[in-house]
Amino acid sequence: MMYQCGSCGGVYQDLMADGSLYFHACPPLEVDPRGRVVERPDKRNENLVMGEPGEAPRMKAEGRGRVELEPGWQPPAPAAEPRGLLARAWERIRASVTTG
Ligand SMILES: [Zn+2]
Repeated sequence: MMYQCGSCGGVYQDLMADGSLYFHACPPLEVDPRGRVVERPDKRNENLVMGEPGEAPRMKAEGRGRVELEPGWQPPAPAAEPRGLLARAWERIRASVTTG
């Protein structure tokens, strides 16, 4: 199955090609200037931790959950890069130079 993380928006499969299971954990937001890893406050972490004796292992952090994607889901094509003001300005300058 393919899923989209409700916290970070990452798309992932829970079953990898070699048959092993994938447990999503949101990547950190950044590493601050002191080298400390800054995690998102709503981080999802599907890795399992042991519960109390006799209880089943549980997910580390639910975060904002996940959404199951349709079978065959494809990522949207990247949007065309909007032409920047600078690129248009250069175009006008070049045109004025070549036309005299
Ligand atoms: Zn995530």
